[in-house]
Amino acid sequence: MAAVRIDGKELALKARAQVTEDVRAFGQPVCLATILVGDDPASHTYVGSKHKASHEAGIESRDHRFSSDTDQQTILDLIDELNADDGVDGILVQLPLPDHMDEPEVLRAVDPAKDVDGFHILNAGRLYLGEPFLVPATPSGVMVMLAEHGVELKGAEAVVIGRSEIVGKPMAMLLLAEHATVTICHSRTVDLAFHTRRADILVAAVGRPGLVTPDMVKPGATVIDVGVNRTDEGKLVGDVDPAVFEVAGLMTPVPGGVGPMTIAMLLRNTLTAAQQRRAQVAVSGS
Ligand code: NAP
Repeated sequence: MAAVRIDGKELALKARAQVTEDVRAFGQPVCLATILVGDDPASHTYVGSKHKASHEAGIESRDHRFSSDTDQQTILDLIDELNADDGVDGILVQLPLPDHMDEPEVLRAVDPAKDVDGFHILNAGRLYLGEPFLVPATPSGVMVMLAEHGVELKGAEAVVIGRSEIVGKPMAMLLLAEHATVTICHSRTVDLAFHTRRADILVAAVGRPGLVTPDMVKPGATVIDVGVNRTDEGKLVGDVDPAVFEVAGLMTPVPGGVGPMTIAMLLRNTLTAAQQRRAQVAVSGS
């Protein structure tokens, strides 16, 4: 029997409706500032979608775009300005940055209280220590998808392919926090299939089309395909061969799976940052 498809679009609509309601209930302006450097068309599309989604959720947004030859100091100065601006709740630096910039240095310049991508060392550390605050949006969205489908995590074998700071590592930490037994695989893993075949929950976050084939998947497993790859024909495909639908029990499609959830979680993080910061301002001001 073919796997049940996890409908990311539908779950994202639900999550976004909830954020919209919560923004309204919060009753104060919430603002997201984005910084985009360069002319990568995909990045421009992503940032455009983030502004549109913010607007729909009642979140204000500010759009800062720069040409690819902009020097790093200009970006660091803007981040300083946005950090100090009380009207800005979230700051997002769209990646990748041009090669001449030091990405970790730029990301660390963002005030951790406004770090809605959850990439700052302090937010990564909080997740690691089991005190999450702002968690990267993509793995957060995966956790919501698993919860919405009632996937049992406690004691489950979870295998994450990919160990990036953006997806793989935080994904593993979130699954571990829910008491899954987690294995992280990467490009130096010997015999990837040996690990993936044990997985009750398999998350692929690699960026290689068709890396996960049906013979690598345990029948009935939950398969989450984070990969986004464009074929030579311009088609969007994931890291998981669509034939895996015939083996898995539950699976995300690409497109229409993890992607839409990511933006919903970014909006949620922006509201969380606003709520937290304003509560602290209220306490310190009293
Ligand atoms: P990344 O930083 O390039 O990391 C890729 C990871 O895959 C690395 O840890 C790498 O191992 C590992 N890897 C590469 N080849 C492998 C192989 N043959 N076998 C096992 N592991 C292998 O990528 P990322 O930023 O995590 O993104 C991963 C994918 O998710 C991309 O397709 C990206 O577009 C997509 N993505 C989607 C969303 C969304 O919202 N849907 C968001 C973010 C990313 P090493 O560490 O050893 O190099």
